[in-house]
Amino acid sequence: MRYLSTRNNKITADSRLAVLQGLSEEGGLFVPETIPSADFGKDELLSFSYNDLCTKVLDLLLPDFGKDVIKDCVYSGYEGKFETEDRVQFKQFDDCAFLELYHGPTSAFKDMALCILPRLLTASSNLLGNKDTIHILTATSGDTGKAALEAFADVPGCRITVFYPQKGVSDIQKLQMQTQEGSNVKVCAVEGNFDDAQSGVKRAFGEIKEPGTSLCSANSINIGRLVPQISYYFWAYAQSVKSGKILYGEPLNFAVPTGNFGDILAGWFAKKMGLPVGRLLCASNENNVLTDFIKTGVYNKKREFLTTTSPSMDILISSNLERLLFYAYDCDDEAVNTLMTELAENGEYKVSDKVLSYIQKDFDAEFADSSRAAEVIKDVWENINYLMDTHTAVAYACAKKVFGGENFVVLSTASPYKFAPAVLDALGQDVPEDCFEAMAKLEEYTNIPRPTRLAELQKKEIVHKDVIDPAELTEYVKGIIRQ
Ligand SMILES: *Cc1c(COP(=O)(O)O)cnc(C)c1O
Repeated sequence: MRYLSTRNNKITADSRLAVLQGLSEEGGLFVPETIPSADFGKDELLSFSYNDLCTKVLDLLLPDFGKDVIKDCVYSGYEGKFETEDRVQFKQFDDCAFLELYHGPTSAFKDMALCILPRLLTASSNLLGNKDTIHILTATSGDTGKAALEAFADVPGCRITVFYPQKGVSDIQKLQMQTQEGSNVKVCAVEGNFDDAQSGVKRAFGEIKEPGTSLCSANSINIGRLVPQISYYFWAYAQSVKSGKILYGEPLNFAVPTGNFGDILAGWFAKKMGLPVGRLLCASNENNVLTDFIKTGVYNKKREFLTTTSPSMDILISSNLERLLFYAYDCDDEAVNTLMTELAENGEYKVSDKVLSYIQKDFDAEFADSSRAAEVIKDVWENINYLMDTHTAVAYACAKKVFGGENFVVLSTASPYKFAPAVLDALGQDVPEDCFEAMAKLEEYTNIPRPTRLAELQKKEIVHKDVIDPAELTEYVKGIIRQ
């Protein structure tokens, strides 16, 4: 299958190369030239195991790997990694359901794709005869970093370096990364916010040419991150039909806590593949660039970067939007280039009315601030005894406003324990200074067990302490490569 670069549609790659390269050489993102349709019938969709569903979806979008390789990547990638037997839990209530995607090794939905990505990368590297060391460079707003570290630690032929914003992640997220073990891992804080870290990493991709090393991304700019995420929209749909909430064929609305626009874009791909997805609600926190964009067609990042209780969504430059724009402009790479140049130079761009209506056909947008998120955490806990983390709460609050009484599914993207102090505070409880005491108190208050891997962090040694200025990022990576 041909993948095209969003910034130069003459640059093509098959699905293996698109995964291996991560980012196209001129800075574009890879997208499939045509989105394949998934014609699972009702019986098939309802009877798939998660592994088999995921294998089918990957086969359709990454056909150049071969069916056996894909199957092995999925089965062995997920094997033994999840705390619960049901990898994805679907909790249906009266007017809404929660799709819990956080039962993996790092307690955030990023595990869903990152358990598989190292396998896909190693497979594409072998299939294409690559002899270089694969060096994963990743910027994180908190959750990708740990999920990628966990996935790539001690994988032969790979190294990984993760950059996180020094003041932009929760204490627990920071500890998860600082205590990461593995002979091929490096973690470094960046003085600045997530956008600074992400821009620094994108620059490094252009600037570093070291013999024997191929740089690659584990961020959702890599299509290998996006594709596994499509599977759980199909899964959620099947569960909704099974629960009797919808009839097969009826549209189902999704509310997605959004940062880099990767998770929600996976939902849009599912819709284009033929799944009866209704509205896709792009839910933001106070950093509501996307809300404004989807409502008005103007993307304007010239605003204060706010730190919120949902740090994994504190983003002003949402990379994956570029993929949607490429399709909205009918694969016109020049149009995308113009917008991206305007964004880089003037901090804003405006899309045509035609493109805006293309986007509004499938997407709604809303935002909820931290205090509104706290309110719904308390309400939902008190009314239906469901405990949401701060990111999920943002999406729920937006969905209540936009979908009214209509049925919807909220993507539950992180364990509440990852943000225990904020969740406790939302519940009106005193918040202990120490994040482990906060976890213990949240467990005592709710009787919901905390993930063992988060509790075990307390005993681990901090091994990564570097802090750099974003401008030093390229040199820092070169230093590691040359070691
Ligand atoms: C990464 C993340 C998001 C945002 O997902 P995107 O794919 O970046 O839009 C939302 N919630 C949590 C908990 C996350 O870790």
